[in-house]
Amino acid sequence: MEIVRTIAEVDVLIESTAAHDIYFEEIFLDKYKLKNGASQLDICTAISDKKFVPLYLKWEIIDKCNFSCPFCYIAGHSSNKVVRFNDIKQHIKDFIDQGLLYCVLTGGEVLLHPDFCDIYTFLKEHGVIVEVYTNGSLINDEYIKLFKNLNPYKIEISIYGLGKIPFKRNTNSNYNCSTILKNILHLKENKINVIAKTPVNRLTSAYIDDIGGWCNRHGIVHYFSTDISNGYDAYSLESFSASNDDIIRYDLKNELAYIAKNGYPDNFIKRKKSFSCAVGSYGYHINSKFELLPCSFFNGKINGIDISRHGVKDSLFTLKNYIEPIKNTNMLNCNGCIAYSYCKMCPAIGDIIVAIDGRFKFATNNDYCLRVIGNYSEIYSSIQSNNEQCSHCGATYTVFLPVQKGYIKSEIYYCPECGTGYSCHASSSPRISLLTKRKDRLA
Ligand code: SF4
Ligand code: SF4
Repeated sequence: MEIVRTIAEVDVLIESTAAHDIYFEEIFLDKYKLKNGASQLDICTAISDKKFVPLYLKWEIIDKCNFSCPFCYIAGHSSNKVVRFNDIKQHIKDFIDQGLLYCVLTGGEVLLHPDFCDIYTFLKEHGVIVEVYTNGSLINDEYIKLFKNLNPYKIEISIYGLGKIPFKRNTNSNYNCSTILKNILHLKENKINVIAKTPVNRLTSAYIDDIGGWCNRHGIVHYFSTDISNGYDAYSLESFSASNDDIIRYDLKNELAYIAKNGYPDNFIKRKKSFSCAVGSYGYHINSKFELLPCSFFNGKINGIDISRHGVKDSLFTLKNYIEPIKNTNMLNCNGCIAYSYCKMCPAIGDIIVAIDGRFKFATNNDYCLRVIGNYSEIYSSIQSNNEQCSHCGATYTVFLPVQKGYIKSEIYYCPECGTGYSCHASSSPRISLLTKRKDRLA
């Protein structure tokens, strides 16, 4: 079904049954140099065009879960009454009228919400592109049918361990990992875009490589993150943090993937700024109490805006007033450093300081900076890069070798043009970036 919308004076046509079929007028595409396959980021940046347009919502529809992962920041740290869709349907319609174009449905476990199908269908039928974060345990034929009829942009499933015992320990549930893996494959067989993720922490770190291997073998994109968040009730979950060696190991993999794709980040010394991210231009968050916040990390940090009480327009106005005065101002105590590209400091993780005029400001702290700069130095001194030529087809490429001390072993990398394998010694799989194409007779 084709849906025509006007968002911030931009005419948009959306095919609601498809995952991400979205069409703009030529004049708009030319102005912002948007091409076929433009990313959500490019589209949101172009539509918002330096002003705030509420395009991208991360909506935590429920804080309950059928798992009880010990490192979870929400289950066990938040206990709100489930907000029923009928009670807030008009507000969601108002958000759509204000520009809602992308919506991530998350939890808790989203599929436990009694109105999940109604929420999902409503969003899709009103021209919103939807993605779903789930632990994958409750996917059944009814959901497969729903996602086949109204394609999600993607379904993102967390895998917390492989094997019966680790999975049960990491999720404190009676589920078996085989159910999750089977459901991932079931989605894939039905041509629904499914990807997997795993948080790297003290309980999961031993299984990340095996999970990545399983995903690789089945053609599923897998990503991981070493970030740890405190509970929504401010309970510290720091004790679940992975060892520093593991943090370096997995951040090194992520940095290598970035470098192989985009080149080394520039190392100009820059200072971190407040709300220079999506929140300053188009992003916002609704928590399981149906309160509006800049992003999920603000849960428990500031009071959310009660949308049911204030309505959508006034709630967005209040949020904007919170962000605008400090948007793009320097974070206190940050003097900039070489670790800028790796550092994640932002108002969500910084400390709130209330200035004499009563305004909020955000500050970083010395311990954070020392840890980040130390990790950055170790990661970047563990990357070797060599330009090479394939002896079989003549293609040239850069090989980025991770060489973290204590983890070096035999590895193989492949020419990106002809697939010829070469052996090397590295701490994990090398990354390859093509420089020039093959020169043999198959060129
Ligand atoms: S599956 Fe996700 S939401 Fe549920 S307890 Fe685990 S981390 Fe939390
Ligand atoms: S590590 Fe500290 S000084 Fe460096 S960019 Fe981050 S917040 Fe700023």
